[in-house]
Amino acid sequence: MKLLEGKNVIITGASRGIGKGIAKVFAENGANVAFTYSSSEAPALELEKELNALGVKAKAYKSNAASYAEAENLVAEVLKDFNGVIDVLINNAGITKDNLLMRMSEEDFDSVMDINLKSVFNMTKATQRTFLKQRKGSIINMSSVVGVKGNAGQTNYAASKAGMIGFTKSVALELGSRNIRCNAIAPGFIETEMTEKLDEKTVQSWRDGIPLKRGGTAEDIANACLFFASDLSAYVTGQVLNVDGGMLT
Ligand code: NAP
Repeated sequence: MKLLEGKNVIITGASRGIGKGIAKVFAENGANVAFTYSSSEAPALELEKELNALGVKAKAYKSNAASYAEAENLVAEVLKDFNGVIDVLINNAGITKDNLLMRMSEEDFDSVMDINLKSVFNMTKATQRTFLKQRKGSIINMSSVVGVKGNAGQTNYAASKAGMIGFTKSVALELGSRNIRCNAIAPGFIETEMTEKLDEKTVQSWRDGIPLKRGGTAEDIANACLFFASDLSAYVTGQVLNVDGGMLT
């Protein structure tokens, strides 16, 4: 029996990077996957095909996580397409707009807060009624080590990721009595398509500073999500798991 056999999962922002890695690992473990993207339509449809070939149901939806109305519509659509059941929600969609505070525009602060943090409110609100009716659900929020520690040049991003942690713990306290769990993952330096474009020397110096001497992979994060999504973590809620090769230790 696969760990997520027959479970229905929503993942925001899975057209690439960590979200895509989670979608693949979840489908390999038997989950049906509804996932969103913002603009990468071709890669999203390609992934949809790839996941369906694994014998699960998978569907890509274009939906802006920052929009309350779009989140409501998305969840209504997913419920129609996936037999009215949602077992797991993964709030993964996120962006960076880095700059020193001195140079950061109001627009760049707001867009990062809206896409990274307000999206979590939008999606949790939109799925809450279903979880309450089922008396079961697992919500996983993709924070960051930067939300725990802070980072120069990322006041907007770090604030959004720290906000996700406060939100996670509050939801865990509010919905625990209904068997709805909510946990956060704080990835460290994860090597995705995005980091491939960075200067190799710089990246190597980051790897050298990590106790496990390597960057993380999307699969490393997906495996942590697998734990929180499955019944292996049935007694775990309100936690932040650093998946960072020991970076914050
Ligand atoms: P990524 O490669 O840039 O992928 C971001 C995903 O989010 C894409 O699928 C993108 O869709 C989607 N997205 C962006 N804006 C959206 C919106 N408004 N509505 C819906 N979807 C949207 O990022 P990643 O590195 O995989 O990161 C995934 C999450 O992990 C983020 O929350 C990030 O903050 C967090 N994280 C990453 C690292 C790291 O080292 N990579 C470390 C710590 C935390 P499109 O392709 O259509 O744009």
